[in-house]
Amino acid sequence: MAWPVSSWHNPGPGGSRNRFASGILPGGERLRQGWTLLLDFLLPHACPLCRCRVEAPFAPCPDCRKGLPPQPDTLCLRCGGPTVGPEQGCGQCLGNPMAPDAFHCAFDYADPVRGLIHGFKYGDHGEWAAGLGDLCWARTGAALAWEEPDALVPMPLHYVRLVQRRYNQSALLAGVLARYLDRPMVTAALRRVRRTTPQAGLNARQRRLNMQGAFVARQSLVAGRSLLLVDDVVTTGATMAAAVRALKQAGAARVAVVCLARAVPGGIHSSASEGDEHG
Ligand SMILES: [Zn+2]
Ligand SMILES: [Zn+2]
Repeated sequence: MAWPVSSWHNPGPGGSRNRFASGILPGGERLRQGWTLLLDFLLPHACPLCRCRVEAPFAPCPDCRKGLPPQPDTLCLRCGGPTVGPEQGCGQCLGNPMAPDAFHCAFDYADPVRGLIHGFKYGDHGEWAAGLGDLCWARTGAALAWEEPDALVPMPLHYVRLVQRRYNQSALLAGVLARYLDRPMVTAALRRVRRTTPQAGLNARQRRLNMQGAFVARQSLVAGRSLLLVDDVVTTGATMAAAVRALKQAGAARVAVVCLARAVPGGIHSSASEGDEHG
């Protein structure tokens, strides 16, 4: 489904102007309502999917929430990849200290969430982080609170891409989750020092090589800490795996991952093509 990019600041059908046709109100109440109406007029919020009016910025309405994709069946609880049973890590994670320690994901990468994320990343709609962060928290909050991370670390963008986009969508998302968790976000903990080529068409080994040396973690900020790495979309997981490895090589005690959506059921060790994951 195409994302209605123009819908964000438009009031829905029967929008806020109609509410000026109200009856006579007591003075204080009239003042309060007048202020609310002025704010509504200046900053109306529309459901991003059906354009009906909603209270919070970028909050899909109750009807549209029913149509959001389910949480993916996270098979390997550490990386989201395939495994023989949900209790165990997959063959790649068992006995691998450099693998993620936990994997949390809010949605299958399917419409309408795919459209929302696409607008968030490529449509210059950084302000949608608030709503997407709320949706992510609604699905994963209990598990994230249980993690009790010392800090949140957003998946970094290479600075060239950051300059092009003007914001790091993962950092905006991490900011929302950090407020819910009441934990600091430490953007300086992890840097992307090498621009990588898009991973589509590469096999698993080639993707690992492609990501080699892409990240550098700052030891003084991560050593001995339990971290929550925040990404928007995980496709094959090669990027996520490389970031986790860099954090652990710098001494992180634990690295859990949370993402809005996981694109490929095969998880991080599969040979599926890489879509949005390279940044
Ligand atoms: Zn709606
Ligand atoms: Zn695994």
